[in-house]
Amino acid sequence: MVRTVSINGPDRRTSSVGAVTDAAKRLYVTTPIYYVNAEPHLGHAYTTIIGDALTRWHRLLGDDVKFLTGTDEHGLKIQQAAEAAGLSPQDFTDSIAPKFVEAWKRLNIANDDFIRTTEPRHKAAVAEILQRCYDAGDIELDVFQGLYCVPCELYYSEDELIQPGNLCPIHQRPVEYFEEENYFFRLSRFEDRLLDWYAKHPTAMKPEHRGNEALGLIRGGLRDFSISRTSIQWGIPLPWDPKHVTYVWFDALTNYLAAVGYGQASDTGTGSYEDWWPADYHLIGKDIVRQHCVYWPAMLMSAGIEPPKGWAIGGWLLSGGEKMSKTSGNVVNPLDLIDEVGLDGFRYYVLADTAYGNDGDFTYEGLVARYNSDLANNLGNLLARVATVVGKKCDGVGTRPDPSSPLAAVAATAYTDTVAGWDIVQPSRALDATWQLIRATNGHLEANEPWKAEPGPDVDRVMGDALEALRIVAILVQPAMPDAAQAVWERIGMTGQVGDQRLPDAAAWGQYAGGVAVTKGDALFPRLTV
Ligand SMILES: [Zn+2]
Repeated sequence: MVRTVSINGPDRRTSSVGAVTDAAKRLYVTTPIYYVNAEPHLGHAYTTIIGDALTRWHRLLGDDVKFLTGTDEHGLKIQQAAEAAGLSPQDFTDSIAPKFVEAWKRLNIANDDFIRTTEPRHKAAVAEILQRCYDAGDIELDVFQGLYCVPCELYYSEDELIQPGNLCPIHQRPVEYFEEENYFFRLSRFEDRLLDWYAKHPTAMKPEHRGNEALGLIRGGLRDFSISRTSIQWGIPLPWDPKHVTYVWFDALTNYLAAVGYGQASDTGTGSYEDWWPADYHLIGKDIVRQHCVYWPAMLMSAGIEPPKGWAIGGWLLSGGEKMSKTSGNVVNPLDLIDEVGLDGFRYYVLADTAYGNDGDFTYEGLVARYNSDLANNLGNLLARVATVVGKKCDGVGTRPDPSSPLAAVAATAYTDTVAGWDIVQPSRALDATWQLIRATNGHLEANEPWKAEPGPDVDRVMGDALEALRIVAILVQPAMPDAAQAVWERIGMTGQVGDQRLPDAAAWGQYAGGVAVTKGDALFPRLTV
């Protein structure tokens, strides 16, 4: 049963600490499916970590979240890559897809499902949506001629290309002239319908400046796009004309429906697709805005399916000022970075360093600087000094916070601002809000200097305040750094899983009961040198 937003909407998320938690809301979050012509790289990891943290945040709020990722396995590039590797396309994709599964395991990605477009459930969903759009009269046969970029799998008009030389604007290589009989999706008929829909859903695309780019594309006029090829075998045949296979977008985008059971018998044990659809967040990069925010809602409208509720559009994580891609050869393997700064150090950097929607420029020096300032010097130092002073002045036993501590108000503000950051899918803002509490707690210790005082009620109170702040911090950073949050949680003597805490109640000041052993342990974030 779908629960309406009005029951669990923004009121709850902006509600103050200690408010009654409402019933769980269903939330469906997706990443793009990644094309298996390359192995997982930092660009893939970026979007996937954002989706994972968003998912974990909503789980803390008590929402019932389904988080989907997967691999895109059809098309010309795969056919060509398989041929080059001397493999069948299926054997080739079977060799690459597990590398994505494994990469996401190592990055501690809490996806509930991993869809491959070569699976029967996906093929069934694609056949269903194609047939519906065809029956609606929005797919028609026509002759296509145009300038085509093979890596993009897109036709370009001359004014979109870099001149002289008709170079692809993404790949900066010459496009090719193609002419063939294709089926076309009549996107041009959807201009007004899309603009009307977005006018009624003005915050569906986040952040706003990326959404405005999509609206600009629609207002600039929409062209029908080709959806089939006869020249390629590696794909899903059109149900009414199987000598054509569907090409690129009907295949790729439909994964979001396929994973929740669209086009399949609804007795699969997970309910029907209407339980999860429309998706709450499609996380995408800015380079696929046209397909996700223009093509996709039009395709859904044609098929009689509600468009998604939201898109969260990221910029590119650049490396030396260029988009990271196989073609440009500047691919950073995310798994190598884990070895340098630890898994959670890497996740934190990805989430905190760049405002989501803007381009980020990855540098190793930047990674280390961010790690040292926020993790080693702030959070790590706070945890270490609290454990040290509790060990020396409180017999290693945690003490209770002061209900009227000045940190109580700081914690309440940090919580409200953290909520606000996640609400607009700005993890960097959410984490910065949490860091305000970390900095204030370090400041509270420096102002009171408990390490210089004699043991007694004053020291106990100050250390109780710091322990309570760390308890709240552990919860608020859990979506970004699940393992580090659990370590903080256990070192201050808390039991159970920090991820099982439920907000907003768990963020209310004064719940650290004390009377439990506080352990120092090794440095959680040892300082790094470049
Ligand atoms: Zn291209």
